Amino acid sequence: MQKKSMKRILVTGGAGFIGSHLCERLLSEGNDVICVDNYFTGSKDNIRHLLNNHNFELVRHDVTSPYSAEVDEIYNLACPASPPYYQYNPIKTMKTSIYGAMNMLGLAKRVKAKILQASTSEVYGDPAVHPQVESYWGNVNPIGIRSCYDEGKRAAETLFMDYHRQNNVRIKIIRIFNTYGPRMNSNDGRVVSNFIVQALHGEDITIYGTGTQTRSFQYVDDLIEAMLRMMATEDSFIGPVNVGNPGEFTMLELAQKIIDLTNSRSKIVFLPLPGDDPKQRQPDITLAKEKLGGWEPSIKLEEGLKKTIEYFKTL
Ligand code: NAD
Ligand code: UDP
Repeated sequence: MQKKSMKRILVTGGAGFIGSHLCERLLSEGNDVICVDNYFTGSKDNIRHLLNNHNFELVRHDVTSPYSAEVDEIYNLACPASPPYYQYNPIKTMKTSIYGAMNMLGLAKRVKAKILQASTSEVYGDPAVHPQVESYWGNVNPIGIRSCYDEGKRAAETLFMDYHRQNNVRIKIIRIFNTYGPRMNSNDGRVVSNFIVQALHGEDITIYGTGTQTRSFQYVDDLIEAMLRMMATEDSFIGPVNVGNPGEFTMLELAQKIIDLTNSRSKIVFLPLPGDDPKQRQPDITLAKEKLGGWEPSIKLEEGLKKTIEYFKTL
C-alpha cells in the first residue's frame, strides 16, 4: 500500500532534457514516478541519479505502442523536440505525437487519470500575431520540413480536446516556448546547446540566416514549476496555456551573450536559414499568471545561461 498523499505519476519522455527535471521534482515531492522512454533523444545518464530511489521506475517503451499502468497523473512529453532529430524520421515523429497521444489518452480514460500534454509554441508556426496569445490559431505550413512536428503537436492538441469532450478525460494542455538548461543533449542541434558547446570549444558560432530572428528563452526550472501548477489546477481549467519567458532576443544577441559569458574567442559565422524557420516568437503569459497562481518566470537569460554553461563544462 502506498501513502495516501503519494501520487502515482507516469512521465513519458522522462529520460529527456525536460522529462528528467520533471521526474526529479516529482520524486522530491514524495510521489511514485514511472518514467517511460525509448531513448531516441533521451539518455539513461539524465536519470541515472534517480535509479536508487525506490519510488522511481524506469521502463524502456515506445509510446507508439499502448502501455498500461495504474496511475493518478500522466505527463506526456515523449517526442523529439530538436529540429534535426524530429526531421531525421519525420513519419516516426508524427506517429509519436499522434499514436503516443492516443495511447496515453486511452490509458487516462481507462484508469481515470489526469493527463497533461507538453504542446509547443510551434503550434503558432511563423506567427503573424506578436506576442502570441492562446486564442491565435497560428500560421503553420502543413507540407514543410517542420510540419511533422508542428502538425503532429497540433493533432495531439485536437485529440486531447476530443477525448475531453467525448469521454470526459481530465486534460491539461500547455504550450511550451523555447526552454533550455542543464541536460540538454550537447549535440542535439538546438541553438542554446549549439552556441555554448561551440563557444566552450573555441569553434565558430553558427548563426542560421541573418541572426535577426527572435526567440524567447525559458530556464527549465521555471517550466517545471508551471507544469506542476498546471496539473494542480481545478478540472474545469484545461488550457491551452502558454508557458514561457517573455524576454525576447535575436540569435545575434544570444550568440554575443554566450561569447561574453564564456570569455570565448569564437567567431560568428552565418549559414543558410533552414526552411520555415519562424521569424519571431514571444509568449503572452497573461493567462498563465492568472490561472497558475501568479506564476511567472524568475530566472533571467543571463543567470540561466551561466548555470547551463557550468553544466556543459562538466561534460
Ligand atoms: P528531448 O528530446 O530531450 O526529450 C524527449 C524525450 O522523449 C526523449 O527522452 C526521447 O527519447 C523520448 N521519446 C521520443 N520519442 C519517443 C517514443 N516514440 N516513445 C518513447 N519515448 C520517446 O526534448 P525536450 O526538450 O525534453 O522536450 C520534451 C517535450 O517538451 C517534447 O514533447 C517537446 O515537444 C516539448 N517541448 C519542448 C520544448 C523545448 O524548448 N525544449 C519546447 C516546446 C515543447
Ligand atoms: N539556430 C542558429 N544556429 C544554430 C541552431 C539554431 O542560428 O546552431 C537558430 C534557428 O535557425 C532558429 C533559432 O536558432 O532560428 C532557434 O532554433 P532551435 O532549433 O533551438 O529552436 P526552434 O527553431 O525550434 O525554435
